[in-house]
Amino acid sequence: MTYKAEYIWIDGTQPTAKLRSKTKILAAGVELPIWGFDGSSTNQAEGHASDCVLKPVFSCPDPIRGGDDVLVLCEVLNTDMTPHASNSRAALREVAGKFGSQEPIFGIEQEYTFFKGSRPLGFPENGFPAPQGGYYCGVGADEIFGREIVEKHLDNCLKAGLGLSGINAEVMPGQWEFQVGPLSPLEVSDHLWVARWLLYRTAEEFGVSATLDAKPAKGDWNGAGAHTNFSTKAMREGYEPIITACEALGDGDKPLLHVENYGVGIESRLTGQHETAPWNEFSYGVSNRGASVRIPWQVEVDRKGYIEDRRPNANVDPYVVTRLIVDTCCTALEKAGQV
Ligand code: ADP
Ligand code: MN
Ligand code: MN
Ligand code: MN
Repeated sequence: MTYKAEYIWIDGTQPTAKLRSKTKILAAGVELPIWGFDGSSTNQAEGHASDCVLKPVFSCPDPIRGGDDVLVLCEVLNTDMTPHASNSRAALREVAGKFGSQEPIFGIEQEYTFFKGSRPLGFPENGFPAPQGGYYCGVGADEIFGREIVEKHLDNCLKAGLGLSGINAEVMPGQWEFQVGPLSPLEVSDHLWVARWLLYRTAEEFGVSATLDAKPAKGDWNGAGAHTNFSTKAMREGYEPIITACEALGDGDKPLLHVENYGVGIESRLTGQHETAPWNEFSYGVSNRGASVRIPWQVEVDRKGYIEDRRPNANVDPYVVTRLIVDTCCTALEKAGQV
């Protein structure tokens, strides 16, 4: 007996990496082996020495093929088994390990936009749909475009055992969101990458593409973000550490360091309009959806909980955003003795 393993990896495309995958047939009972691919076709190698290594790091049932088939997320390594330059998971492994005792967890809100041909799903052939207002969490064929794909994607993610916590329609026609977590930094990031792969794969069967472009429609339309919700054990137990984390994110060169690594095109999305703060002005506040970092109102009432970094773009690499937030906030919490 054999089964199919779909090996998935993140390529070297700049400025935003793409997902790639290919299928390996394995004998039942055999452990997932290391595999390889031609890096010269994925912006990960030159032609003369193009072998790259795929190392399985996370696997789950394949909800599309079913049966015993699996999805296998991999890290890309060089042939000497060191992390490839495009492998951002390796750096997160280190930082998450260093601060593991603070028990950081994340919930990421992944926004995305369906496209049919060159236009967002639901945009008419000519001109524009009615302006924003009724689409967010809407219902009805005049407001909702692609729900059958969204439902199928959710079912596929749940069948795969991914830690999705919800979905909603967003403010522009054809724009949607799913949430992953709360989970540990590596788990939330691995689950999000596989959920992204399942999004493209599910939509493919409907002849629709999905994009994580941060500003998929120019003009008076919201961009697409990946709000990143974060807490440590100390933050889940008290309010002072919440403030320490917010202050740390606003300290010195941190705002710029974070924003520069929160996805390409961030200045086109963080304009100060459309529920964003300007990319070059850090702020935090309770309940404030116009701030860089929001403390949810319930968190202020409870005097404990989590914070929401509203800056990351939809196209952010979760391995990068979770590493930066853990590094910045957990270092500050450690210094303050709030661990
Ligand atoms: P909103 O759209 O109001 O900003 P969502 O409900 O879309 O909020 O997303 C909130 C996210 O916060 C969810 O992904 C949830 O898992 C996450 N979350 C909840 N509690 C915590 C916590 N203590 N630490 C980290 N993330 C959390
Ligand atoms: Mn949300
Ligand atoms: Mn949203
Ligand atoms: Mn949010």
